[in-house]
Amino acid sequence: MPAPMLLAVDGDPDALGRVERELRDRYASSYRVVGTRSPDEALAILTELADAGEDVALVLAAQWLSETTGSELFERVRLLHPHARRGLLVAWGEWGHRRTAEAIFDSMALGRIDYYVLRPATSPDELFHQAISSFLLDWTEARLIAPHTVRVVADAWAGRAYELRDALQRCAIPHAFYLSDSEEGRVVLAKSGAGARLPLMVLPDGQVLSDPTNMEIANATSAWIDPDRDEFDVVIVGSGPAGLSAAVYGASEGLETLVVDEGGVGGQASSSSLIRNYLGFPRGVSGRRLAEQAYEQAWVFGGNYALMHRVSDLSQVGERLVVILPEDRRISARAVILATGAAYRRLDVAALDALLDVYDAHRSALPWGCAALAGKAFSLYRRRGGARRSPLPDFYIGAHAAVANLSVLSRDENPYRSYFPRVVVVCPA
Ligand SMILES: Cc1cc2nc3c(=O)[nH]c(=O)nc-3n(C[C@H](O)[C@H](O)[C@H](O)COP(=O)(O)OP(=O)(O)OC[C@H]3O[C@@H](n4cnc5c(N)ncnc54)[C@H](O)[C@@H]3O)c2cc1C
Repeated sequence: MPAPMLLAVDGDPDALGRVERELRDRYASSYRVVGTRSPDEALAILTELADAGEDVALVLAAQWLSETTGSELFERVRLLHPHARRGLLVAWGEWGHRRTAEAIFDSMALGRIDYYVLRPATSPDELFHQAISSFLLDWTEARLIAPHTVRVVADAWAGRAYELRDALQRCAIPHAFYLSDSEEGRVVLAKSGAGARLPLMVLPDGQVLSDPTNMEIANATSAWIDPDRDEFDVVIVGSGPAGLSAAVYGASEGLETLVVDEGGVGGQASSSSLIRNYLGFPRGVSGRRLAEQAYEQAWVFGGNYALMHRVSDLSQVGERLVVILPEDRRISARAVILATGAAYRRLDVAALDALLDVYDAHRSALPWGCAALAGKAFSLYRRRGGARRSPLPDFYIGAHAAVANLSVLSRDENPYRSYFPRVVVVCPA
């Protein structure tokens, strides 16, 4: 497979030359670097690569191009190469021009660009490279080829494989999933030794866990509590943004701090692909990255974690508070902070509730992993020339069925047959 492409599009030949030079100098050994002044040529290149199934890691384009705009071009890029990062090139001070500023705001709000990038000035321009390397890191994460990725192999999307991915997702651990009969799955299995049982988890340090329990995952990923400690200054229940903020402040003030969560880190926020309103992240930050960084920030101040541990009780014993963890483990503290987030109640719609009983149906949240599978099917559909305006609902239904091992009742079985061949489709005659 040829190296992924970095594509720059700018009508100004000097500016384009500087961008190409910086990209080539720093990245040419791992990426193909191509620059063009023509948006049409850029689209022709991108279409050809999409047809050939080749990767585009990054597209940089100026806003004001001949006969089109950067924003319009990025809209096409998003459809052709959904994983490619998109950076709008602007000259220094150009954000002060009303038209360009509005183009930046609109493109960000509509998800057409990931962020704007200052055109390089001197060489090397480390500010430019800082932006480029963050884009490339985001791209590797989206393509599941980031360093230190946990690999999971199983013979189906559903069942225990789904729970394992859910646990990893909730611990904000980058992971890739392979079916055991896929090419990648077979390679991982071959390297994992004869006794490996499915589902299988291979950690970045080479440890192989066969059909691990959640507690084994917690131990292997260091998300567990030191067995000899049962006293802390403060215990924080919940490792969502609120709990992690409390942990950073508690630990940084020198308090012996323990964060306990029944899942992983990040709480609800870890399911958000892009949070744009968190202080200090003007480009936005994925919930997973935010959780990772907050976890690490409290940890370097000496914070402790017990992930995948549910707190089942809280009581006062003398001067101290005691929380109860699984296996009747008791931890005492001078203070306990409850940062357990929100629990959602169902809408009280009597007519709908009545139907649920009649059909013995239940409502549940979309499972983790569903969006990734739906997105994968959607990009395959686009590569095959699919042009329907809103096929995503079908892909979500198919992906949900595949991940949660459900059957689908539909008049049209074709979309499911083509994109989710393992899903059982019941088609009324
Ligand atoms: C898809 C999505 C996108 C979002 N995007 C944004 C956004 O862009 N901007 C924004 O401002 N907000 C966003 N939100 C909302 C934001 O994530 C929440 O407001 C935030 O996570 C609340 O933080 P929290 O720490 O109070 O609670 P939570 O994040 O809910 O964390 C609570 C934690 O407590 C743990 N817990 C509960 N009970 C126990 C127990 N008994 N024992 C151990 N652990 C327990 C839970 O497992 C959970 O991890 C989004 C939410 C979702 C779901």
